[in-house]
Amino acid sequence: MDLGKLALFGGERSVPEGSVVSWPAPEDGHAEALRALIGSGRYHGSDHPVVRQFEEALGAHVAPLHVRAVATGTAALHTVLDYYRKPGGAVVTAALNWPGAVGPIYACGMKPRYVDVSLLDGCLDDSLADVAAGDDVAAILVPHLFGNFSRLPRLRQAASRRKIPVIDDCTISIGGILRYGPDPDFYSTAMIASGNGAKHLGAGELGVLCARNPGLIEHVDFVSVATSLRKGDKVFSPPISYGFNYRPNVFSAAIALTRLAGLEDQIRVRAGNCLSLCRSLARLPGVVPLFDEGEPGNSFCVLPLRLVPQELGLPDSGYVRDRLGTLLQAEGVPVDAWLRRPVWTYMAFDPPRLDPEGFPNTDLLLSTMLDIRDIAPPNDGTVMSHYAAAFEKVWEAIPALKDWLVQAP
Ligand SMILES: *Cc1c(COP(=O)(O)O)cnc(C)c1O
Repeated sequence: MDLGKLALFGGERSVPEGSVVSWPAPEDGHAEALRALIGSGRYHGSDHPVVRQFEEALGAHVAPLHVRAVATGTAALHTVLDYYRKPGGAVVTAALNWPGAVGPIYACGMKPRYVDVSLLDGCLDDSLADVAAGDDVAAILVPHLFGNFSRLPRLRQAASRRKIPVIDDCTISIGGILRYGPDPDFYSTAMIASGNGAKHLGAGELGVLCARNPGLIEHVDFVSVATSLRKGDKVFSPPISYGFNYRPNVFSAAIALTRLAGLEDQIRVRAGNCLSLCRSLARLPGVVPLFDEGEPGNSFCVLPLRLVPQELGLPDSGYVRDRLGTLLQAEGVPVDAWLRRPVWTYMAFDPPRLDPEGFPNTDLLLSTMLDIRDIAPPNDGTVMSHYAAAFEKVWEAIPALKDWLVQAP
């Protein structure tokens, strides 16, 4: 192959300039919602009518879960973890994780106990469910990454038997809340969504706590200063509070509200785009989907993929993944590696004492996973075929690029 055809080396891009709409895919309806909010003359407050409308509208989708909006997904995680805190307790969670989900564990005076993930979907490995058995386990915090939802039947059964709360971090996987939140037989203590601009509600900064237990919902006022009118009285937080300011941003709530009516459709288009792209990529060696195709709770915040460099005659090295990523980016594919280091190396609380080699699947994914953003509407099958053409062009060049691919980018 003539390497000059590659966009990185001067060739034409596979994805035409301007053909991809980046999330949060602005719409006229967002500007209208913001104008109406400005017309309300009030720009803040947990009790703002737009916040109430958002909570009620989402609540209608996920009943009997109660819904409470807060500042961020991280604030919602902090609130739930605080409710179930055990001083010095352990919170079982995945080694492939987001620093913002692990920070609140420390903020509650507890420690993460990491567990390896599955190579099927990058979520907790259900065959390691015995970790929930320790007497010091205060809670299990399940990150559902990339838009994947992981049902974890063994882990939930073990946790339910021992009455250990399971907190589902669905900040990038809101489809899991829609699908399993209303199911009375599904053991989940709290499900957390995020309205952060990169995620399905694409609204700026916003978090949502969904739970059956009204006490857990009320706990928001204990952690956060309310300064709002709830139940007709002015509430400057209930009798005592930690005083964190976790009030929801009303501008974000207004945008999130406009997204709710189309949320199921948005998820359907995301899934359709990802499945059609995966069908095209299946022809190429060494690239496999990092999600469970049979899981109805998936909502595809991004399309997660995993490289199998041996199938390309290359070593399992992060360099190979990053070099291939650079070639694809030059072609115009919005591709990235979500995280490159174990989560604990990002945390300021503990020196990184943990041995990453205890987590072989996490270790492998950190050097081989890739995700494609901008698979959401209005991007459609045409955009997916541009992405597929970029992969085909880059894959065709691999034999001629072997020495280059194993070097540090
Ligand atoms: C985004 C994210 C969070 C935090 O949500 P914010 O609303 O940004 O605070 C937590 N966990 C995971 C896995 C996330 O991707």
